[in-house]
Amino acid sequence: MAWVITHLCRDCLDLSCVEVCPVDCIYGYTGTDSETFPNQLYIDPDECINCGVCEPECPWEAIFEDEQVPDVFQEAIALNAKLTEHKDQFEVPPKVDKARPTPEQIAENKAKWSYGG
Ligand code: SF4
Ligand code: SF4
Repeated sequence: MAWVITHLCRDCLDLSCVEVCPVDCIYGYTGTDSETFPNQLYIDPDECINCGVCEPECPWEAIFEDEQVPDVFQEAIALNAKLTEHKDQFEVPPKVDKARPTPEQIAENKAKWSYGG
């Protein structure tokens, strides 16, 4: 069991989640294969201790426990796990302060992925 970062994170990268993770298991991709690893963050399922601390910190509501990942984001479970095959191309990124999204922006982002939650 582990927590999963979904498509709702894409292009956010404000890294609020990274700052609170007690085991530094939230990573950014540093490689060039953006087809395989889109611009979002990834949780290493082998290192995640299932504390859930990151979830409420995410302004885009992009993080779910693996058993709770909505159907439209199911592929995110395997995608997060895939980082373990390319660990040398992932690193824990530094925090970047970004403006918090508005409720409207959060709703728009969910609608973009056909997610109504
Ligand atoms: S806080 Fe949420 S949206 Fe922002 S980088 Fe972390 S997982 Fe992605
Ligand atoms: S659930 Fe806890 S250990 Fe896992 S990624 Fe979130 S903060 Fe880190």
